[in-house]
Amino acid sequence: MSTAVARKRSPSVVFPPSGLGPATTVEVSTPSEIQQVLSDAKRYPSPVRPVGSGSSTTRCVTANGGTQLDLSAMNRVLKIDRDKVTVQPGISLTELADILSDEGLELVGGFDLANRTVGGAVSAAGLEASMAGDVGQFASHVVRLKVLSPNGKKFVVSEKTKSLLALMRLSYGLLGVIYEITLRVRPIQGFAVQTAKVSFKDFGKLGSKLLGATAGVKLYLLPFRDRIYLELRRPAAEADPGRKFAWRFKDWAVYSALPEAARSIGKAVPIRQIRYPLIDSLSEVAQSLVNNALVRSGSNSVEQSGRYRLLGSKSRFTYTTWAFPAADFPSTTLAYKLFCKEYYARTGFRCDMPTVGFRLNRDRSALLSPSFDSPMFTLSPLSTQVEGWDDFVLDFADFAAKHRGVPFFNQTRNATPEVVAQHFGTRLAFFDKVRRELDPTDRLVNQFFQSYLPQA
Ligand SMILES: Cc1cc2nc3c(=O)[nH]c(=O)nc-3n(C[C@H](O)[C@H](O)[C@H](O)COP(=O)(O)OP(=O)(O)OC[C@H]3O[C@@H](n4cnc5c(N)ncnc54)[C@H](O)[C@@H]3O)c2cc1C
Repeated sequence: MSTAVARKRSPSVVFPPSGLGPATTVEVSTPSEIQQVLSDAKRYPSPVRPVGSGSSTTRCVTANGGTQLDLSAMNRVLKIDRDKVTVQPGISLTELADILSDEGLELVGGFDLANRTVGGAVSAAGLEASMAGDVGQFASHVVRLKVLSPNGKKFVVSEKTKSLLALMRLSYGLLGVIYEITLRVRPIQGFAVQTAKVSFKDFGKLGSKLLGATAGVKLYLLPFRDRIYLELRRPAAEADPGRKFAWRFKDWAVYSALPEAARSIGKAVPIRQIRYPLIDSLSEVAQSLVNNALVRSGSNSVEQSGRYRLLGSKSRFTYTTWAFPAADFPSTTLAYKLFCKEYYARTGFRCDMPTVGFRLNRDRSALLSPSFDSPMFTLSPLSTQVEGWDDFVLDFADFAAKHRGVPFFNQTRNATPEVVAQHFGTRLAFFDKVRRELDPTDRLVNQFFQSYLPQA
């Protein structure tokens, strides 16, 4: 077991200031080392917060004055079966996708950041362009978890104990530390990619079609150009599983080259009336050339194993995510366009990158699922600019609250406890009841979660 002060972090995001850091950071490589940490509160002070790749954009992982438990060294694949894989929590989705693809298998789900860890993806809410029949959360593919409770006792939850599994999925390291994960996998399947470009008003007319679409839906919204670029994925048995290079290039263009260009233009062109139209034009070119022309087919396997790998991402951008009920989403997008324009006119700040959206299928496999009650669409404004961002995020949180937005504990900045209570109320109360039984001394609870959990 090694104790250190620095740890690896995803390079592509601007983190919120963490304030007081952890008193100690421990890199563990076996379950018994995790056990030692959990059961020795003198040497390893509370709160103990497990960390995968640390790519969450809230303070869900911070352990102010406590112990940061770095699981990234627990990164082995333990067993591969025909339809299941068993891994340690610190392996990244990319590494796992690579290993599975050698066996002709893939993870279920089409998401962006694949260098997050399996432990993090199972413990925290995610976004993905799920196709019909697939559920909305990566965590729903978990069939068994081995866990160390807050006081260091081992327990196992599996599909035989469905309600316990629903509690453990998306439990944010509050019910224990997950040290082994068995996931459902499937043979590599091709999908066809269809793209389209519409105005916000025409997007509104698509509303009910998108709601019931069998396709996975990903959106890039440019409010100041009145444009929404749609990327639709449909399962296609005959589809070419796609070219790795094309997907890598797309990632690089959208998440690395574009933010880098936006930052450079931001520095070189101080007059915002010239700067932003230039950046918007660049975004449109990126969407038209890369998304619409280059990538016509793919597979989860090709997409996941290519992400952020060879081309990497040195650019820094930040984002916040809210999920909105799918039934109201056409009117929410129109209101969002007006919100962005009004905010810019009032403050001079606007996001310099396209807002990204996903349709999340309804998912009841986890108690704290953000799409527990209905299918949802997410909106994630992205920006490379730090100045003005914090105020924008506050106002966007107000906007989201007015439009029945549901926050993600790991990806939403400035959600108020009232909004959290409104959406997760009874479910969060039940979750916390179980949590208090497992963790009566709040060994795993940091200030961030204290502010959201119901008061005893
Ligand atoms: C550029 C960028 C793009 C992104 N794109 C996407 C995307 O497309 N889709 C998406 O869903 N998310 C995306 N995210 C968000 C992020 O990847 C998710 O929040 C992810 O779930 C975090 O994984 P992680 O390994 O970094 O977990 P961490 O941030 O390290 O941890 C997340 C939570 O899980 C807990 N945890 C971690 N490991 C364990 C464990 N073994 N046992 C118990 N608890 C544990 C932590 O305590 C914390 O509460 C993106 C982030 C960035 C920066």
